[in-house]
Amino acid sequence: MSTRTYQVRTFGCQMNVHDSERLAGLLEDAGYAPVDGDGTPDVVVLNTCAVRENADNKLYGNLGHLRPAKLANPGMQIAVGGCLAQKDRGDIVRRAPWVDVVFGTHNIGALPVLLERARHNEEAQVEILESLDTFPSTLPARRDSAYSGWVSVSVGCNNTCTFCIVPSLRGKEKDRRPGDVLAEVSALVAEGVIEVTLLGQNVNSYGVEFGDRYAFGKLLRACGDIDGLERVRFTSPHPKDFTSDVIAAMAETPNVCHQLHMPLQSGSDRVLKAMRRSYRQQRYLSIIDEVRAAMPDAAITTDIIVGFPGETEEDFEETLNVVRAARFSSAFTFQYSRRPGTPAATLPDQLSKEVVQNRFERLIAVQEEVSWAANRALVDSTVELLVSTGEGRKDADTMRMSGRARDGRLVHFAPGTARIRPGDVVETVITYGAPHHLVADGELLSHRRTRAGDNHEEGLRPRTSGVGLGLPSFGPPSATSEPVGGCAVI
Ligand code: SF4
Repeated sequence: MSTRTYQVRTFGCQMNVHDSERLAGLLEDAGYAPVDGDGTPDVVVLNTCAVRENADNKLYGNLGHLRPAKLANPGMQIAVGGCLAQKDRGDIVRRAPWVDVVFGTHNIGALPVLLERARHNEEAQVEILESLDTFPSTLPARRDSAYSGWVSVSVGCNNTCTFCIVPSLRGKEKDRRPGDVLAEVSALVAEGVIEVTLLGQNVNSYGVEFGDRYAFGKLLRACGDIDGLERVRFTSPHPKDFTSDVIAAMAETPNVCHQLHMPLQSGSDRVLKAMRRSYRQQRYLSIIDEVRAAMPDAAITTDIIVGFPGETEEDFEETLNVVRAARFSSAFTFQYSRRPGTPAATLPDQLSKEVVQNRFERLIAVQEEVSWAANRALVDSTVELLVSTGEGRKDADTMRMSGRARDGRLVHFAPGTARIRPGDVVETVITYGAPHHLVADGELLSHRRTRAGDNHEEGLRPRTSGVGLGLPSFGPPSATSEPVGGCAVI
């Protein structure tokens, strides 16, 4: 029997992107192979998001497009997972009876078994758990990148922001043991990865589950002891749990990048209260000041929602004031969208689309001015870039390649005649600052070929086979501690 092929389609946040690496790892462990190019896969997995209104449209739109292919290939299987599956459950099969498997956010490990059961029983399988079955990081993963890796520190969230559906779909916060996190980071670095992003819905409340308030700062410092790890990033922190020890750890640990993504959501204390965000404008700005005092070169980005129910023009002006004061290098801006099942969905004073659209455009204009001014100020500065895939491709017109600076900014640079691969590291000087990126058209100052670059060129990607139950406490894995899981580049 020929090897069955698979394709995973990912919607939503970094957590989903990382979960999709686990889904690919699980399927490959079960004997499936990724489909080549635009071939028709035997299994299509849709890893869904439920955060925004059009999330539903995206799912049912995709399922509609898949129906003819399924009718033409009866052996094809369609599986739906992720947050929308956790929310809609059996409704998905009722609305799209050509779906074979529906699984949730708490049991992604069940996918291969559910696919087999659906094939054997010739009946759709819907399996949704109310709480976490297996910590996803104990599952195998096929990584997308040879040089950059996601490492979860926790899943779920204990907050109750009134616009957010995540806690009801991903459950309460569960923290990984520090030793497991460090073992996975070390295993990735052993395979050539030079950049790691620590992931959590709320990374800086990490340790709340095992009673260590300062666990996240310690984790960052422990990452500093891992040889070969050049860049550490993390996302997303919550301002209410942001403590000075984390700022100190960022400033004092050389491989932790001076880049911070800290969602603001609104600049108005009244709206922050209605959002149940548990911090206020002054507290937020004081964190920004403390970060800038410790790391003057830090790039700070954020998330902002405009048009929250009841938001007045004065409230919105407060948001613009914080944007001007905080000098974000960039901002992810969203129009409030009503999500059934969230407290905010039933709040009075839902605003009209026109008002929301108007504020959205004004916010983007103000933020663009701020980003552009900050980027112009970086002309003539020297930057170190990690050359990245996609962005790393040579632009046919400009012949530029692209990469990320340590502060997270996107830089398009002139590679000259050097043969540069994604995963390599170059140094160059900024010659132009655009609103959303930087340009470096001068001669490269240096080009360092890396093992990650070699692996990328040979199409090798780390494949982690799950890390769990490592050391219960801190400190990088000593010579004696075997990471429970390991990486094998294939
Ligand atoms: S912190 Fe708030 S917005 Fe973020 S996942 Fe938790 S509840 Fe949602």
